[in-house]
Amino acid sequence: TDELGIALSNLADSASGVLTPTLRLGVTGLSRAGKTIFITALVHNLLTQGRLPGFAPLADGRFIGAKLAEYPDATIPRFAYEQHMAALTANPPTWPESTRRISQLRIVLKYQSAKWWAGMTGPATLNLDIVDYPGEWLLDLPLLGLSFAEWSADALARARKPGHAEEAEAFLRELDSTDVLKDANDPDAERLAAAFTSYLRRSREHWALSTLPPGRFLLPGDLEGSPALTFAPLPKPDGAARRNSLYAMLEHRYEAYKAQVVRPFFRDHFARLDRQVVLVDTLRALNTGPAAVADLETALTAVLACFRQGETNPLLRPFTRQIDRILFAATKADHVHHTSHDRLEAILNRLVANAAGRARFAGAQTRSIALAGIRATAEGTIRENGETLPTLIGTPLKGEALDGTTYDGKTEIALFPGDLPERPDSLFENGNPVALNFLRFAPPARLERNAAGEVVLPHIRLDRALDYLIGDWMA
Ligand code: GDP
Repeated sequence: TDELGIALSNLADSASGVLTPTLRLGVTGLSRAGKTIFITALVHNLLTQGRLPGFAPLADGRFIGAKLAEYPDATIPRFAYEQHMAALTANPPTWPESTRRISQLRIVLKYQSAKWWAGMTGPATLNLDIVDYPGEWLLDLPLLGLSFAEWSADALARARKPGHAEEAEAFLRELDSTDVLKDANDPDAERLAAAFTSYLRRSREHWALSTLPPGRFLLPGDLEGSPALTFAPLPKPDGAARRNSLYAMLEHRYEAYKAQVVRPFFRDHFARLDRQVVLVDTLRALNTGPAAVADLETALTAVLACFRQGETNPLLRPFTRQIDRILFAATKADHVHHTSHDRLEAILNRLVANAAGRARFAGAQTRSIALAGIRATAEGTIRENGETLPTLIGTPLKGEALDGTTYDGKTEIALFPGDLPERPDSLFENGNPVALNFLRFAPPARLERNAAGEVVLPHIRLDRALDYLIGDWMA
């Protein structure tokens, strides 16, 4: 029925799209990877025809204009574009609130096709539907193929692994003191779920970036506190569990989570995407050290597994549609000098190599790029000890500290960001820390305005990303 549902909704889409084709672009990445900024910048640049020399329709002079339109699905929150722009253009500007749940936005693009017959048909229109969702949610796909007993066995084995004791201890203690065959009751379920959630949270903090399923436990969206999120893995009891036992209750909730939360997300949203961009905060991991880099790689491999699950597990096939292009983007490239951008791309390539290489993405093309949705720094040079060093100029966010100086959020500084290593593999080797001067910067102030009086948001390679993701649909 899922397969039928998708077929029907795709049919409905194509019926309504007889006149106007619709391209569904998914934007994902782990928490704070840069999704909100990427989408806000992309939409603003399209609406205002910003500086996008690498975006062919605009560079060729075929781009006519763009406007926001009502999203066809009224049950999904709208991406808060105007609010995000207001934050970015406030005085002083602030970074907007990050993605916490799924949201969507439709932008209608009008252009002149470059095809030979286009002169006869006049301007064409494309609906670009942008779907923003937490990458953490993708970690849940494998759950659809796992029973409660199987998932519990996996999750508990991981919690009991040496090295995880610190985060898992409190949860395991709760578990040991609970008789899973006792009568079902909410306080016990809540206690276990809370201990399990705090284990997941602490393990994310400890391991810097990685995330363990269920994804909604870390980013619940609108489900915070609901029974669908009130469960935890339990050891399988020896005998059969009575129907009114605690074990049966949590098993039931796990199944409800799969049926009512995970499955609809994959069926109604993920499986209907045409293109996908996966944003990765590579620099933060580099700055944290080799363990964080290895961890990011693991998390990315898990996230990216979703793009080819259908090949290996027929049960999951209905939930993974053929996405024909995936763009991997290392975000916040304005934190390093442009001379390091090639290296940043090489590092990202290495990070996704496992996921991308072992199996091609079910026929999808992939590309890696280093970009900044919004560029918060300018470049300059300083002379130090007779050497000329490339620098970044920007205003570190209040509270950011480097070399014993804590910044007040108002002072512009120039700093040498450091070089990225030439050989990506060296990042995984202990004793090879990358000495990056990594500071979070305030969004750019004193923005330029275009002839129409609209602000111009500076970016790095957003145009190339856009061209790869939608350019061919506007050929
Ligand atoms: P997400 O929605 O959780 O993926 O993340 P956001 O888009 O909210 O980004 C998280 C934070 O990263 C922002 O608040 C900014 O501080 C920073 N950030 C995101 N994109 C950029 C960028 O292009 N340049 C710079 N300098 N910082 C960025």
